[in-house]
Amino acid sequence: MATAEAKIHLSAFTNEPFVDFSKPENRKGMEDALKKVASEFGREYPMYIGGQKVITTAKRTSANPSHPSQVLGVFQEAAADHANQAVEAAYKAFDSWKQVPAEKRVEILLRASDIIRKRKFELSAWICYEVGKSWAEADADTAETIDFLEFYCREMLRLAGPHPVVPMKGEKNYLKYIPLGVGAVIPPWNFPAAIAAGMTAASLVTGNTVVLKPSEESPLVAAKVVETFYEAGVPKEALNFLTGPGETVGDALVKNPKTRFIAFTGSKEVGLLISENASRKVPGQLWIKRTVLEMGGKDSIIVDEEGDLDSAVEGVAQAAFGYQGQKCSACSRAIVSEKVYDSFVGKLVERAKKISVGPSEDPANYMGPVVSETALQTIFGYIDLGKKEGKLVLGGERAPGDGYFVPPTVIVDVDPKARIAQEEVFGPVLAVIKARDFDHALEIANNTEFGLTGAVYSKNPAKLEKAQEAFHVGNLYLNRKCTGAMVGAHPFGGFNMSGTDSKTGGKDYLLLFLQGKTVAEKVAN
Ligand code: NAD
Repeated sequence: MATAEAKIHLSAFTNEPFVDFSKPENRKGMEDALKKVASEFGREYPMYIGGQKVITTAKRTSANPSHPSQVLGVFQEAAADHANQAVEAAYKAFDSWKQVPAEKRVEILLRASDIIRKRKFELSAWICYEVGKSWAEADADTAETIDFLEFYCREMLRLAGPHPVVPMKGEKNYLKYIPLGVGAVIPPWNFPAAIAAGMTAASLVTGNTVVLKPSEESPLVAAKVVETFYEAGVPKEALNFLTGPGETVGDALVKNPKTRFIAFTGSKEVGLLISENASRKVPGQLWIKRTVLEMGGKDSIIVDEEGDLDSAVEGVAQAAFGYQGQKCSACSRAIVSEKVYDSFVGKLVERAKKISVGPSEDPANYMGPVVSETALQTIFGYIDLGKKEGKLVLGGERAPGDGYFVPPTVIVDVDPKARIAQEEVFGPVLAVIKARDFDHALEIANNTEFGLTGAVYSKNPAKLEKAQEAFHVGNLYLNRKCTGAMVGAHPFGGFNMSGTDSKTGGKDYLLLFLQGKTVAEKVAN
């Protein structure tokens, strides 16, 4: 049976390499891009509904968390009405976009990937300015954006076309995947390019139309992604773009009867609310809305006495403090065997003291600012709590500078049930918990409502095997850190309150954006 793959020949998927900033030409590339995009600060960005630019009277700005008085862009402030208009427009556009052959959709989205690859420093520069990522973290976000596009395009070719089923005598039968309809794509700010582009690309390449509403914290990077998709040939009618508050605009998208599915990544609280709202049938609704919900984490690294302590210290430091701890996969709990507890804490504190914190456009800084004043307040709320629930041994005070700088903060002797050990902080705050033995460590690791990522440092094969059975997380890493999932190699998504285990960057992902249609035709024997 012919599949679309037969018509387009693509090389096997490989991850986009990270930029080596130790090379002078790459440093210059990034410096030039930072200067170039800085010359565009303050520009106004429209919304797009049904192919038309939409401007509102109310505006909101996006600012640089390293220098909060610096306005990066001016954005429209959508209301619920705009959300409903955008869903109508996307609903209308579905009729034609779903008929565009899969190969053509793939061709368009691969063009978007090419454009991003050619201008990768520019996208990374915007990421660095808008959400405070260091050069390396911004580059990883851009690389993942390219990876999602390349991976999902190849997956679409695999899924396109009729699929054989068990043959039936007297029948010609097959199964094919068809798109769902209008998708509300609602990403967070912490991977402002990769997650926004990944969920949008997955929706579009499968033949659905989209209303994308990015986070209030990162409309600029989303606008750049959308501009790229349009430039590559995605019809504006098929990709509607709204900027505005989640509580009103996002809420209206979720509740609209013509919305067929919601692709959401964000906090547990909002994910649960979306799940509830999407499950309630509203007048005019013909389907059960599908929800793809990727939510928060409270991720642990277990440090066993039989592990390589120096590697564990390095892994914990990177996973807890990289991008200021603002990754869903960030290590926020180190669960350490009592046999190596004191030496682990000593080494970790020495390692973390070497981390430089400051404006993210300066490559000397490993850590930049946290994303906003609100995030800063929340994180310091948790630090104050942590001081009561454990012992602060590093950090805890605002770092110098006008940005929202929080230094690496370590709280030791934390009870496994303490709030600082249970709730997602989403900042550079690590709780260190003492375990009696490996079984106790696993018990602690599983004692939250989340189940996203986790890691174990041990050289004992029996313990590693036990962890593979018992450590209940969607992404488990052995003898490496718990952040840095790679598209294709580490399909990503969590259990329990971490979401619907959607496994982005994996072979099952696109099926969430499709429905299977079985056809059986009676034929003469
Ligand atoms: P958030 O939940 O505050 O916002 C996410 C998105 O939801 C935003 O676009 C927001 O505008 C929108 N929104 C808010 N209220 C809404 C409502 N009532 N209806 C519809 N939409 C609404 O999350 P955030 O602060 O942007 O992101 C951080 C969170 O995301 C963390 O909890 C983190 O763990 C999680 N996250 C998870 C993954 C994953 O793969 N599991 C990846 C990245 C981030």
